[in-house]
Amino acid sequence: MATWLGVGGTVLSGTSQAASEPEHPLEPSPVRRIRLGKTGVEISDLGFGTFALRDSDSDVALVRYALARGITHFDTAEGYQDGESERALGRALQGERNRVTLTTKLWASPSDREPDLIARLEESLRRLRTDRVDFLLNHAVNSPERMASPEWQGFVARAKRDGKIRFSGMSGHGPNLVPCLKSALAEGQLDVVLVAYNYIQSPDFLDSARVWIQQQLGAVDWVALQPELVQFLSDAHDAGVGVMTMKTLRGARHNDMRAFETAGGTFAQAALRWVLSDPRVDSAMITMRTRTAVDEYIAASGGKSPTGEDVAFLARYEALNRSTQCIQGCGACVQSCPLGVPISEILRVGMYQRDYGEDVIARRAYAEMGRPGSVCQSCSGTPCAEACPTGLPIQSEILAATRRLT
Ligand code: SF4
Ligand code: SF4
Repeated sequence: MATWLGVGGTVLSGTSQAASEPEHPLEPSPVRRIRLGKTGVEISDLGFGTFALRDSDSDVALVRYALARGITHFDTAEGYQDGESERALGRALQGERNRVTLTTKLWASPSDREPDLIARLEESLRRLRTDRVDFLLNHAVNSPERMASPEWQGFVARAKRDGKIRFSGMSGHGPNLVPCLKSALAEGQLDVVLVAYNYIQSPDFLDSARVWIQQQLGAVDWVALQPELVQFLSDAHDAGVGVMTMKTLRGARHNDMRAFETAGGTFAQAALRWVLSDPRVDSAMITMRTRTAVDEYIAASGGKSPTGEDVAFLARYEALNRSTQCIQGCGACVQSCPLGVPISEILRVGMYQRDYGEDVIARRAYAEMGRPGSVCQSCSGTPCAEACPTGLPIQSEILAATRRLT
């Protein structure tokens, strides 16, 4: 069993790792550290998202670079790159474990049994070369039953008791996200959450950006979406649940914005500043692929309010991308299709392929869904056409995604 000692908010274990010297002594860091809700665990306000991380020497070096620059929280999942992400972190953080915090995720269904979940967690720990993770999340929850399952509950209690995890919760970005979050909060199942959240879901964005939006789009023809998600984040934060966010860049087409960027900042920094200055949010997980990106994102750490230039970036991004970019977790179209096509899931997987460049992962995810978008070909497109509050042309977007993914 791991022994836990709190030292300046950093968690130490009573294993031999505690005596290890860090490979990269941390200098005064440009990255803010925050306490994650009632857990009291101190983490960097920017977390290294490892969705794209592979078990290669270059990716291991990238993790070490981020750590040396002051990013001390790393977010992974058993399913990322078929376990390569966890393996790469295990290699990169060997000898550094006591200076970092880790999240990993298991996709647990209500029928998964407690002993199998323990075995899967132990596999993750082996890949990560550690005896514990700080945060264990049920991955991409889109039905309350997955968190309410007695097997999941028993698994979490046992893993905590055995020192294999410290805190637990759920992640989510699906169309049924808010009911899942509310149910889990009401049932006391959340120490922490990881949710898709960015400026476009913030009720304050429209007010701040109104002038810019009018200039660039000619009109302000939308309202803030997902007020229930925003209310949940407030309630969760007030209740001491640690709030981590993902999909901060709203689809990560930030390279399209390079032509407009100046020395004052970048689109990615603007989007990060927006989220990190939101009082409901503790920390943002963001996929890091290059050293340049690490440096770019770190410059947005700290929780400073977005500048006028930041707001202009965000509005311009909307002007460029709004008509082709689904708002993850919105779910307004979920009942609109008589054939039950999982619209936002297809668009999310399509985004992984088109915008994240993860072709193999996206194709496989789409195949696992049973390639459900092909039925749109013989549909009038009318039922879903009016469902989207952003006016996304759902049928043509699904057909385009289907072509790319098959
Ligand atoms: S085009 Fe038709 S089948 Fe496809 S999502 Fe819309 S309503 Fe459903
Ligand atoms: S397609 Fe439109 S309505 Fe459906 S989840 Fe995306 S943004 Fe919301």
